[in-house]
Formats: sequence, C-alpha cells, structure tokens
Amino acid sequence: MSIRVRLVLSYLAMVIIPIALSIIAALILFASFMGMMYDKRLGSDFLKDVPEKVIGLVSEIDRTASYDSEKLKDKEYVDKIGKEFKTVNIDFLVRHGEDIIYTNGIKIESLVINKLPKHRSGISDHFSSIEIGDKELSVKQHDFVFKDGTKGSTFIIADFSKIGEFIGEYIHALGWAVLIILMLTNGVITYFVSKSIIKPLKVLKHGTEQIKDGNLNFEVKVSSRDEIGEVCVAFEEMRKKLKDSIELQLQYEENRKELISSISHDLKTPITAIKGYVEGIMDGVANSPEKVDKYVRTIYSKATDMDRLIDDLFLFSKLDLKKIPFNFEKINIKQYFEDCIEELQMDLQERKMRLDFISDLPENTEITADREKLKRVVTNIVQNAIKYMDKDTGEIAVILKEEETAVRVQIKDNGQGISEEDLPFIFDRFYRADPSRNRNTGGSGLGLAIAKQIIEGHNGDIWVESKLDEGTSIFFTLKKVLNLAQGGVST
Ligand code: ATP
Ligand code: MG
Repeated sequence: MSIRVRLVLSYLAMVIIPIALSIIAALILFASFMGMMYDKRLGSDFLKDVPEKVIGLVSEIDRTASYDSEKLKDKEYVDKIGKEFKTVNIDFLVRHGEDIIYTNGIKIESLVINKLPKHRSGISDHFSSIEIGDKELSVKQHDFVFKDGTKGSTFIIADFSKIGEFIGEYIHALGWAVLIILMLTNGVITYFVSKSIIKPLKVLKHGTEQIKDGNLNFEVKVSSRDEIGEVCVAFEEMRKKLKDSIELQLQYEENRKELISSISHDLKTPITAIKGYVEGIMDGVANSPEKVDKYVRTIYSKATDMDRLIDDLFLFSKLDLKKIPFNFEKINIKQYFEDCIEELQMDLQERKMRLDFISDLPENTEITADREKLKRVVTNIVQNAIKYMDKDTGEIAVILKEEETAVRVQIKDNGQGISEEDLPFIFDRFYRADPSRNRNTGGSGLGLAIAKQIIEGHNGDIWVESKLDEGTSIFFTLKKVLNLAQGGVST
C-alpha cells in the first residue's frame, strides 16, 4: 500500500473511528445516567410511567375542579390523589381563596407558596415556571370557583432541575469521553502509520552506514510495498551493483598482478638463455666458428620467441581493452576456410599430417567476420593441433555445420588431448596444460585467449571438447549473413 493511500486511510480512520466511538460512548453514558436517575427516583418511574400516570391524575383533577369542585375539599379524596403524585415526586396543592387547604406533604417552601400565581378568572388552565434559587419549578395551575364563590386553584408542581443537572453532567462526561477518544485514536493511528514509515527508513539508514564503513555484505530487507519499499529495492540493487563492481575491480587487480608475474616469468626465461649464450661467446666457450654460429642462432631463435610473445601480449591487451577495431565484411565461409587450409598445408606436410575439410553448408553461405583476426584464430587452433600431436598418423579435420543463425566450426585432432582438470582453463591467458613440455614447443599460452577475444568480438561462442590421449575438438560459431528473403536480418 502506498504511503499516500495509507495517509488518506489513516485520515479517514481518524475521522470515522472517533465518531463511531463517541456514539458508542454517548449510548453507554446515556444508559448509565438513566440508571443513576432511576436510583435518584427520577428514573424510569418518572420518565416512563410518569407521563401516563400524571396525565391521568391531572385530567382527574381538572375534571373534578371543573364539575365537582366541592370534592376538592374532601380530605380523603385529595389525599388519595396527593399520595399518587407523591410517588412520582410531584407536589400537589389545593388553594381555597388565599389559603392552601391541601399539600401532599412534600416539603414546599413558603417561598414557593408566596410565588404561586394568582387566580385568573376566565382562564382555567395555565402553565408557568417559578424560579427559586438555582431551581426552576414547572407549575400547572387550574383555576375554578368553589360553590360558595371562593376562588380556588389546584397546583401541580414538578422539579425538573434535577434532570437539567443530569443532562449537564452527561454533556460534561460525554465531552471528556470524546476528547479522550480523539486523543487515543489519533495517537494510536499516528503511531502505527509513522512506525510503518520510520522502520524501513531506519533499515535504509543502517544500510547507508554499512556502505559508508565499506561493508557491502548485508541485505536491505524491507517487505513494505510502498514508495519507501521501492527505494529500498533500488538501494539493494545499488548495493549489489556496487559489490559486483568492487569485486570486478578486485578481480581486475588480481588479473593484472597475475599478468605481470606471468609476463616477467615468460620474458625472464628466454632472456636468461640469451644471456647464457652471449656469456658463452664472450668467455670463449664457443671456441669454434661452428659453435659461435650455433650460439648466435639459438640467441636469434630465443629473441624471435620473445618478439612473438610481446606481439601476442600486445594484441591480447588491445583486444582486452577493446582498442582494436574489427573490420567486418561478408565472407564466403567455405572459400575462406579452403584458403586458410591451403596456407597451412606446408606445415602439415612437413609433419606428415592429414587435414580433412568437411562442410555441409550451401555453396554461397556467407558470414560476417574480420578476415585477418579470424585467420589468427584458425591458425592458432590448427597449429595447436599440430603442436600437441603425439600420434604417428596425425589427423586433423575442419568441419563446418549449419545452424539456424550461425555456422559452427569444429577443428578436431587425434592428438594428446587435454585432461579434465585443464579443460576449463585453456582459454585463460598464459595457461598451458603442461608448461614444461609446452615451453619446448614455444607456446606462450596466449593463442586460445586471443582466439576467445576475437570470437567474442564476432558475437560468437568458443568451447572445447577433449579426451586425454584421444584428441581435442575446438568449436566456435560465426553469425551467418541471413537472407532477407528468408525473413532474417542482415548482421
Ligand atoms: P601459443 O598459442 O600462444 O603459442 P599455446 O599453444 O601453449 O601457446 P594456447 O593456444 O592458448 O597456448 O593453448 C593453451 C593450452 O591448451 C596449450 O598450452 C595446451 O596445453 C592446450 N591445448 C590447446 N590446444 C590443444 C590441442 N589441440 N591438443 C592438446 N592440448 C591443447
Ligand atoms: Mg597455441
């Protein structure tokens, strides 16, 4: 859930929850106040039964006053009604002239009696309220005339001030309840919303501190799917990339060190030999013209090896840095391989080796390649096959196979083969499966590393299959020039 949605929801919750809780609180308070009012004899009797009872009593009195006023002088009769009123806390008075001839015993202060409204001729029923202190009494007055002509009135007096007090208390309590509800709900919601935002931020902060301290081996795990979650995912990606790039940097550094040590080692060996032969000549060890000639030839051959090694190294480092441009052109692959093999024939015949060329490609199959660089690859692989041949009847085969978008080249020999342990490394620079033996053959261990760079520069793959004593096959692929009419794209 996004932070925006969460904030909107929390805002809605902050409005809806307090309202709902306030309603519940109002109902609970109302119920409890009703209970309290009941306890104080203002409860259900008063609020539920009273209306019916009072209405009955009031109409009874009104009727009596209007049609049988003399009955109101009857002590027994009025007392009966007065007692009924008493049960609901209502005062009942009968006035004869200026005298109160009956009260139902509820203590009515003299103040009230003095304040009772006068008899009003012509109006039988009227309502008024009398204020006494902080009390407001409701008075229902019925005026009539006794048989002897004396003015008479009945009064029904109710004290509602208690209810007002209760309502005041109720509103007060409700106010507090609403305030507490508001504070609690808003507090709780704010706490949870801010926690859900702050927690992942803390994880992020911890992450940045780890990176600052150079530690990249940790993981920023955040499950939230909001904007901060997205930042955390991006942060985690950044950490991984940073880690990879540092590891790559370290790997480069390691490679560089290895390279320098390999170069030093490979240059040191012929230089030491050259020094030895030159010393031999200087010290007069080569004491005949034939010997001197032999020494000089050896020196020349060693210097040539070194020269070749330096050339290879130079080419490799340039390819590695992607500093050599590829001159891609369309090449008829069958023709191209036939020419390459032709050039290698001399070497092959010298060593009495056979080379077969097998191709199932259509005559006009074309590839895109850099002629010169591809020749380096083919020459090195064939020369490896020649160099590492241990059989009397050496056989090499160049096999071209068509694939969907590429041509697969296989250069197969029946030579000494490569052991399983060496197989994964033969494309590494300076890697020689058997250094002591290979040194005699003059290999620097750069040939296949260069071949790999070149084939990858052609967007192809290169790999090896080999069995010790049985022979080796080096495979590589070259992208075909696709015929547009076949729906392909020219590469
Ligand atoms: P360079 O090619 O630079 O003269 P090299 O031939 O030793 O030196 P690579 O061509 O890179 O180096 O080959 C790497 C190693 O792989 C060789 O030293 C050899 O041990 C092994 N190897 C390559 N091709 C063959 C093969 N056809 N048969 C047996 N071993 C091979
Ligand atoms: Mg080689």
